[in-house]
Order: sequence, then structure tokens, then C-alpha cells
Amino acid sequence: MQMFDLGGKTAVVTGANTGLGQSISIALAGAGASILAVGRSPCSETADVIGKNGGACREFRADLSSTGPIQGIVDEAVKTFGSLDILVNNAGIIRRQDSIDFAEQDWDDVLNVNLKVAFFLAQAAARAMLQKGGGKIINIASMLSFQGGIRVPSYTASKSGLMGVTKTLANEWAAHNINVNAIAPGYMSTNNTAALRNDESRSQEILGRIPAGRWGEPDDLAGAAIFLASAASDYVHGTTIAVDGGWLAR
Ligand code: NAD
Repeated sequence: MQMFDLGGKTAVVTGANTGLGQSISIALAGAGASILAVGRSPCSETADVIGKNGGACREFRADLSSTGPIQGIVDEAVKTFGSLDILVNNAGIIRRQDSIDFAEQDWDDVLNVNLKVAFFLAQAAARAMLQKGGGKIINIASMLSFQGGIRVPSYTASKSGLMGVTKTLANEWAAHNINVNAIAPGYMSTNNTAALRNDESRSQEILGRIPAGRWGEPDDLAGAAIFLASAASDYVHGTTIAVDGGWLAR
């Protein structure tokens, strides 16, 4: 298990208060990492679970709809825990509307959080990682990095863009021992998909197409996150791992 050990590492996880970001934070802490849990809302629940399990977690409040808080996040991780070794760009939003009526604000809001801030946070994190000789960056992509979806044009643009940028950054930083990869979750039970799960016919349609026969749970991402955050993935660069119950294979 030594190659999965994150002892002595510091991970910044954005959107750590709930859903996938909360599960990823708890999983990385379980493997030994200290967590800077970044959230627009309090991450106290996440910090409590990590603390009860004997781990270290510091909360940091930030609104990631602009690049303003980025340097503060990196500085806080280094100041609190001594380094920044792992970044999980998880915070994300979605807006649903027919493309024919889609509003410019819904385009800009989604692209800002999901793509622009994710890129500039990766840039700031990489600058800190370079000083320590390397690190791990994990971007949370989507099935809509691969597919078009319906009624979610800005989300699809952001997640397709994020998968592309994951490759660009891997190409530039692999030689500096920074692994940049992504995880593409399938259809997971979180706030992000509440509207789909509440729509009986869409929910059945989606469920019927998942070979595993169930929606994903946030904890389903734990293994892929620990793998991409640890030495086990040292020669893995620029890839996007689907954790999707087989959705893309269908
Ligand atoms: P969620 O809505 O429960 O969580 C989204 C997180 O992003 C929350 O912590 C929220 O506070 C944070 N966030 C949003 N805007 C923010 C802002 N301006 N500043 C700071 N934080 C902000 O949904 P989730 O499913 O846990 O989503 C996590 C990530 O996974 C997102 O990037 C989402 O696009 C992606 N994803 C989710 C699914 C799914 O099926 N649930 C599938 C593929 C990808």
C-alpha cells in the first residue's frame, strides 16, 4: 500500500463542503494527506469527519467565481501545512436551459467557475509545486467532456475545455514531475444532478443506460482520486479516468 500513501502531503480540494469534493477530501485524508478544504459555504462537516478519523483539515472560505482568492488559497496551504502537493479542482456549477434560450450570464458564470478559475488555480498551484520538485493536479471533468448532453451548453463547453486543458498542462509540466490528470464522474447522486433525479422519465432514461445499473455515489470516486494523487500514478499524465459505471462503454 506504500505507493498509495499520502502521509506528509497537503491537498487543496475546492468545493469540499459537499458532494464529490467532500468524499474526495475524506478519501485523501484517509490516505494520510492534510486537507485545505476550500468552499464558498462552510466545510465544517467535512472537517469534522476528517478530524474524527484522526486526520488534519483546515477550512478556507472562497468564492471561486473569480480568480481573486486564488493566491490566498495557495498561500494558506503552504502557511498551514508547509507545502501544496495535490490540487483537486472540483468546484463546479451547471445551468440548464434550452440552447435556443440560453442566457449570456449562464454561459459566463459556468465558464468562470468550471474552466477559468480551475486553470488559474492550477497555474498558481503548479508554481508552488515546482518549488518542491513536483505535485499532482486532478481536474474533475464529466461525461460531458466526451459527449454533448442536452440543455447544458456552457457546462459541456467548460468540461470539454477542462479535459483539453488537462492535456495541455500535462504536456508542459510532466517533465517537471507535476502530474495533471482528470476524473470524469458518471451520473452521481449529488446536488448537481438533483434536477435530473427528480425528473422521473429523465432519471429512468439515465439509469437504463448505466451498465452498473445504479447511479454513482460520491464515495465511488475515492479509489481514482487516491490513485491520481499518489505515487502510484507517477507515469500517468494528461489522461481522464471515467468513473461512470460503464456509461461511456455503452
Ligand atoms: P455539488 O453541486 O454538490 O457540488 C459543487 C461544489 O462546487 C460545491 O461544493 C459548491 O459549493 C462548489 N462551488 C460552486 N460554485 C462555487 C464558487 N463560486 N465558489 C466556490 N465553490 C463553488 O455537485 P457535485 O456533483 O459534488 O459536483 C462536484 C464536481 O463534480 C463539479 O465540478 C461537477 O461539475 C462535477 N461532476 C458532477 C457529476 C455528478 O453527476 N454529480 C458528474 C460529473 C461531474
